[in-house]
Amino acid sequence: MAKKRVLVKFSGEALAGEAGHGIDTQILNYISQEIKSLVDADIEVGIVIGGGNIIRGVTAAKDGIIKRTSADYMGMLATVINAVAMQEACEHAGLDARLQTAIKMEQIAEPYINRRAVRHLEKGRVVIFGAGTGNPFFTTDTAATLRAIEIGAEVIIKATKVDGVYDRDPVKFSDAVKLPEITYEEALSEHIKVMDDTSIALAKDNNLPIIVCDMNKKGNILEIINGNLENCSIVKNKGKK
Ligand code: UDP
Repeated sequence: MAKKRVLVKFSGEALAGEAGHGIDTQILNYISQEIKSLVDADIEVGIVIGGGNIIRGVTAAKDGIIKRTSADYMGMLATVINAVAMQEACEHAGLDARLQTAIKMEQIAEPYINRRAVRHLEKGRVVIFGAGTGNPFFTTDTAATLRAIEIGAEVIIKATKVDGVYDRDPVKFSDAVKLPEITYEEALSEHIKVMDDTSIALAKDNNLPIIVCDMNKKGNILEIINGNLENCSIVKNKGKK
């Protein structure tokens, strides 16, 4: 029987902890233990991490001193810093992990080669995909969706600070209502910010379900993959599994 394969996306901010920037190794350690619980359950895992704890292109380019293209390359490099840290944390947890980057940096990582990535996954190695898509004007949400489709993942799990998708920002509005299941079209509507439009359109075109869940609830990701969708929201085509 084919093993389950998933792609988990963490934002860079998730690694920052209370400091709000940089990398909190305790959080990294927690994440790697969560990933280990998936691998121990025979699930093949790909990971994409953002770079927002270090730099975001849009922010770095906002006063025009740094061009957007360069700022985005800086953002992609930031994701590699996080990915190197994630690889170390996975190995510290006893996992085999490989880092592949969309921008070649051969002293640090393998280049992204789809067939090689799939082979690593088949061998039970965690594959971390760094440097986003390798192109400016994209986000790591889009990179995660793209890689998920390329490696044939069943689902993309966006591990966040909230336990699902709400009709309004739950941080700002105490009466925000959680939406357990929405369509891609609904996810594209303005007030719901699950992922950026490019990544949702790509997921929609390829019928890739997106699950949004709380990464800080221990065991949550494994439970979700095992079919318990109580503590998350799912974005998918109506009527599809
Ligand atoms: N980025 C990019 N192309 C990509 C992925 C990322 O240019 O394919 C840049 C972009 O500047 C982005 C930054 O890398 O702001 C960090 O990624 P992201 O903002 O998605 O990180 P997150 O919000 O998940 O921490």
